[in-house]
Amino acid sequence: MARKKQFKAESKRLLDLMINSIYTHKEIFLRELISNASDAIDKLYYKSLSENLSDIDQNAFKIHLEIDKENRTLSISDNGLGMNKEELEENLGTIAKSGSFAFKQELEEKDEKEDAVDIIGQFGVGFYSAFMVANRVDVVSKKYGEETAYIWSSDASDGYTIEETSKDDCGTTITLYLKDNTDDENYDEYLAQYEIERLIKKYSDYIRYPIEMWVEEQKRIEPEDGEEQKPEDVKYETVKELKTLNSMIPLWKRSKNEITKEEYNDFYKSKFNDFTDPQKTIHFSVEGNVSFTSLLFIPGKAPMNYYSQDYKKGLQLYSRGVFIMDNADELIPEHFRFVKGLVDSQDLNLNISREMLQHDRQLKVIANRIEKKIKSELLLMLKNDREEYEKFWNTFGLQIKFGVYNGFGANKELLQDLLLFYSSKEQKLITLDEYVARMEEGQENIYFMSGEKIEKIDQMPAVQKVKDKGYEILYLTDNVDEFVLQILGTFKEKNFKNISQGDLDLDSEEEKKELEKKAEENKDMLEGLKTALGEKVKEVKISTRLVDDPVCLSSDEGMSFEMEKVLSAMPE
Ligand code: ADP
Ligand code: MG
Repeated sequence: MARKKQFKAESKRLLDLMINSIYTHKEIFLRELISNASDAIDKLYYKSLSENLSDIDQNAFKIHLEIDKENRTLSISDNGLGMNKEELEENLGTIAKSGSFAFKQELEEKDEKEDAVDIIGQFGVGFYSAFMVANRVDVVSKKYGEETAYIWSSDASDGYTIEETSKDDCGTTITLYLKDNTDDENYDEYLAQYEIERLIKKYSDYIRYPIEMWVEEQKRIEPEDGEEQKPEDVKYETVKELKTLNSMIPLWKRSKNEITKEEYNDFYKSKFNDFTDPQKTIHFSVEGNVSFTSLLFIPGKAPMNYYSQDYKKGLQLYSRGVFIMDNADELIPEHFRFVKGLVDSQDLNLNISREMLQHDRQLKVIANRIEKKIKSELLLMLKNDREEYEKFWNTFGLQIKFGVYNGFGANKELLQDLLLFYSSKEQKLITLDEYVARMEEGQENIYFMSGEKIEKIDQMPAVQKVKDKGYEILYLTDNVDEFVLQILGTFKEKNFKNISQGDLDLDSEEEKKELEKKAEENKDMLEGLKTALGEKVKEVKISTRLVDDPVCLSSDEGMSFEMEKVLSAMPE
């Protein structure tokens, strides 16, 4: 017997959660395992094409399912790339390598089982979902081009073993030993042919390789003499046949109006390891010098690791339906890095490498079209479904703002119409366009004020004054907001004006005269205050900025208080 190895700590905890999962969609385990099998075949397919391997028959690729009622097992076999000993250990012994750190942290923060589903959904824990329905899982695998096959086996609770075994061809077979039925859960359904057929249709229909299973079907027995039969005389026999359960047409190759929302959502979730439906699906084709089809998704939630180094942006790249690579970075600009999806083009070279991507002209054309498409879809959403757009904005708005900021003006045209800021007048998020459209007669500037919270900004003395004059103010609550406006410089030829800064020039001639008079009258007091405060202030003035408060601090032209705060908080 091989020595038992323990799962890495965080994997162990996730397994516990999986096993005791209150998650009701246990059936998704099949979709996860099928998708892994398909990925493994993709890898070998790609290898055979790019390295011209003559010993691989591309027509023989398939996924085979087998139900064994007596032993209560369900197995999923593929003739893909397979795994060697190290890979079994690495891929199945550690959960979500990249996400594990964030995962552990998250678990420590909320130790609630109900949140498990949420957490599970954030990582590539596909394989582990097998333990939702099985109390033991065997993985027999042989890597293409290697001699030895291995069996990885685990009952989840108690670590796993890896031993040598024998297997004729390369690929992987995963055998699930189904759990015993309980009062609430019937695991026997995964031994029922019709249930498996249903699940494949529902979740894995688009998989490009045949998913086969021996099925028993009732066939009508034709009478030997070929005569008409009365319905009550018709006889049936049970025949066993190897049946392909999926239609094998990649989802993105099907016609848009034949695809249901549910199909898109299921596809997204299985392909991009998410438990949450995407907020938006964008499916389009372009014909021309470079032809391609793209299927894009805006996730419903930011992935757990979205703001960490672990997050990889990019789209999956296919050439004529053949998978080339994951996370092709060049296809998605930084400001839309939350978009997931894929591109399939017949005009790309199969042998394209990551390094070549950067210089590939066709790829640049594709990337450009994709950027434009995302923008136009977002604008459409903004126009037609404000609520949806605000939901998007709350999830990924910050990314758009950083896009403006980091682009140093280069993305101004592209992104400025997508921005939303809180309005003092509307008391909700508005676009810059909406602001400018309803500016008052003679209003020269777009007024804004920064602060920690909307309510706090609303109470500021300077804000009161501008509001009383009837002007609308944008309330900025994100650190980056002011920088964004600064980078924009102007919008529709209007300047942005910080109302806590410099002279607002809101007063009429009369008011100005009044002010001068007051300053003259109080000259001694003002000078006294300036002397007392010394270097701390530049000037003490009588102000019309105030309405209800006796005094306020105001910054000079140049950097505002808020920007100073942000800059001084930044690491050197
Ligand atoms: P993901 O698919 O998101 O990478 P999984 O937990 O589903 O995460 O799988 C973990 C890893 O295990 C895969 O990335 C792959 O390397 C390996 N793996 C799983 N199933 C197979 C298989 N049938 N053939 C080859 N490798 C596999
Ligand atoms: Mg997977």
